[in-house]
Amino acid sequence: NNVKTYFPVKKGVMKKTVGYVKAVDDISIDVYKGETLGLVGESGCGKTTLGKSILQLVPATDGEMNYNFDGDVKDLRTLDRKSLDAARKRMQIVFQDPHSSLNPSFTIYQSLSDPLKKFGVEKKEDRRKIIGDLLEAVNMRAEYMDRYPHEFSGGQRQRIGIARALSVNPELIVCDEAVSALDVSIQAQVLNLLKKLKEERDLTYIFITHDLSVVEYISDRIAVMYLGRIVELAEADELYKNKLHPYTQALLSAIFVAEPDRKTNRIILEGDVPSPMNPPSGCSFHPRCSYCMDVCKVERPALKKYEIDGTDHYVACHMVEQKKEGKYNGEI
Ligand code: SF4
Repeated sequence: NNVKTYFPVKKGVMKKTVGYVKAVDDISIDVYKGETLGLVGESGCGKTTLGKSILQLVPATDGEMNYNFDGDVKDLRTLDRKSLDAARKRMQIVFQDPHSSLNPSFTIYQSLSDPLKKFGVEKKEDRRKIIGDLLEAVNMRAEYMDRYPHEFSGGQRQRIGIARALSVNPELIVCDEAVSALDVSIQAQVLNLLKKLKEERDLTYIFITHDLSVVEYISDRIAVMYLGRIVELAEADELYKNKLHPYTQALLSAIFVAEPDRKTNRIILEGDVPSPMNPPSGCSFHPRCSYCMDVCKVERPALKKYEIDGTDHYVACHMVEQKKEGKYNGEI
């Protein structure tokens, strides 16, 4: 609720704070057990910072991060060190780059053994059994545990990264651009593996990506981020069918369609993404929005809920609000 993650910008010998990069700027969102929530947006929109703030890897500067511990809801930001360590067992991350997320001087057994030891699996033979089972769960052979990362392809390393995340039996996994560094055919294998594991292990995913085809394939709901804020949130099918926010419309118009005869109405946005240190007033998308009205320049639009085709659809846009209220007659 109202999560902010700001990074101070320091200058001069005295390292004086001259401003803040507002990577996550007042976001409130629910993640439901068993769902895959896609977080999508351009590079630098704050999606990775939000994912890492949820896991308490990058501390948020404000807001509440409420987690339901089997019926007991607690704010992760207020937990002491010991309770936070215990909570971490429930939440894991799969990183983007399978080449740098595994220590090259450790065997796979050594890399996967560490979290198991930390969370109380004392006996080596027990750890070897668990790691062998985990490797088989991600479609690899158990005996691979005695090999080094350089002996595997990118896709295999990412599957090892997934096995490592699964090693402590988490409930929630943040997949941070987990397939972006892989070839398309390997991407499909890893995505299908993630889907299968989710069903088998009753997992919840927060799936962070800039790839719009990937996010449509894997997500139940999708949140679109722009400059540290959520501008639209809906079920995946609904979002692709009824994209309401002008930024979402531009973003989704960029999806590549593998049909030469099918015309796509690509929306080209003018200008660059503004600096998150000095975001524009009002709606932060207003300098690039072709629907911009006077109110957009001064008033930040709230993320409002609309019921469309029986589903909840959230949008932060004055024009959509006025359209729904019958005050705006233009085309959306
Ligand atoms: Fe465009 Fe205004 Fe909507 Fe922002 S609030 S997206 S500027 S119409």
